[in-house]
Amino acid sequence: MDNTASASSPRIIPRADHTISRAHISESARKVLYRLHDAGYAAYLVGGGVRDLLLGLRPKDFDLATNATPEQISQLFRNCRLIGRRFRLAHIHFGREIIEVATFRGHHSQSEDRDDALVHDGMLLRDNVYGTLEEDAWRRDFTVNALYYNIADFSLVDYTGGLEDLQQRRLKMIGDPTVRFQEDPVRMLRAIRFAAKLGFALDETVILAIAEHRQRLQAVPPARLFDELLKLFLKGHALRTYELLYQHDLLAVMFPTADRLLKTGDALFDRFVRQALINTDQRIHDDKPVNPAFLFAAMLWGPLLKTKSVYRSQNMSSIQAMQVASGDILNEQSQVIALPKRFRLPIREIWAGQTRLEKRQGRRASWFLQQPRFRAAYDFLLLRHQAGEAGLDELCAWWTQFQVADEPQRKHMLNTLRQAPRRPKPDAIAEP
Ligand code: ATP
Ligand code: MG
Repeated sequence: MDNTASASSPRIIPRADHTISRAHISESARKVLYRLHDAGYAAYLVGGGVRDLLLGLRPKDFDLATNATPEQISQLFRNCRLIGRRFRLAHIHFGREIIEVATFRGHHSQSEDRDDALVHDGMLLRDNVYGTLEEDAWRRDFTVNALYYNIADFSLVDYTGGLEDLQQRRLKMIGDPTVRFQEDPVRMLRAIRFAAKLGFALDETVILAIAEHRQRLQAVPPARLFDELLKLFLKGHALRTYELLYQHDLLAVMFPTADRLLKTGDALFDRFVRQALINTDQRIHDDKPVNPAFLFAAMLWGPLLKTKSVYRSQNMSSIQAMQVASGDILNEQSQVIALPKRFRLPIREIWAGQTRLEKRQGRRASWFLQQPRFRAAYDFLLLRHQAGEAGLDELCAWWTQFQVADEPQRKHMLNTLRQAPRRPKPDAIAEP
């Protein structure tokens, strides 16, 4: 199906011919759909909700689209908040669940008020013009994300050929990828995210356009990139995401220092990153919390060690070299992705903790064990070991045992440590 022209009638798939049932839609989303419908508005489930249900997956949230304006929506729901500057959206709150309701958006170029759509170097800065269902479909990103489930008759509405692409398991851009990536470069990362999550193939034109426009990601505000990065790596498909980012040379834009090191063929660092991501995916699947700081600490560990060794060769102490190198690496990374302060400190502590874990003599081990930052540092050490870094057997086993040992056992462990031969290079350590 041609997916570039927008003056076409949609394919309508009646309830009997598709697999989405109301029972699969969350109760809150159903309530919102029905209240909009009963008030005389058009109301559709759209985006990931429809896509994932058709694929037999459990949607992570339900996004709705309607012809009611945000103000009209908020009049229907007491639990409604209007949010967003770039896109004005209604959030309907049901306990912890939020149903996002967007008013149909139209083409900015058709706006009577030119100020409504601000374009800079082909990039859409604001995009807040209301439109029809059809216009709303054509301004979405991928065809499989532009399927609508109509609460009025339970049919599916497909303007862009999304159903066929879904069946073929391919991710196709609506319209010309070059134009769409210029409008919003984050769509390149979304392409990778959906390809990783759904196991879909990227359409050839998408691949070519990414190769051509990937540097445009640098023009995206770093804070938005940070949000997108969390979605890329904390949704349970981090390993595949990493492979695709590397393959399409987007890692070079998102994590330049890591990418440079990987391109030198550093197999240990590659193994380390993979192991970190495998563990992250496992934690997500087990519904355990994941700390973004840990993830950043891992993605930048190889470059950090390299920079640190340069400072070491200039006769800096291990701790000092670690501190200075940490600052360098985090500053360079922040040029691309804004690292909020609340993440920078824990990242530095995980790294500094690697040196601290080696210095166990005297009261140092017992002191460090009491610190809130011990756990992440210890987990990071285990990760290094798991990824095959040599020489960590004794250190890992020691710390694992030390944590569960009672007082006399700990004393014994520290005493035997003292008898162990000292390392040839005594590193100064700041007294805890
Ligand atoms: P998931 O929620 O599983 O991550 P999703 O497809 O629902 O995936 P959202 O970010 O929730 O993604 O966005 C909802 C829908 O809004 C998308 O399916 C897409 O149709 C549209 N959309 C979101 N971001 C963009 C964008 N940058 N450009 C165009 N359309 C977008
Ligand atoms: Mg969604």
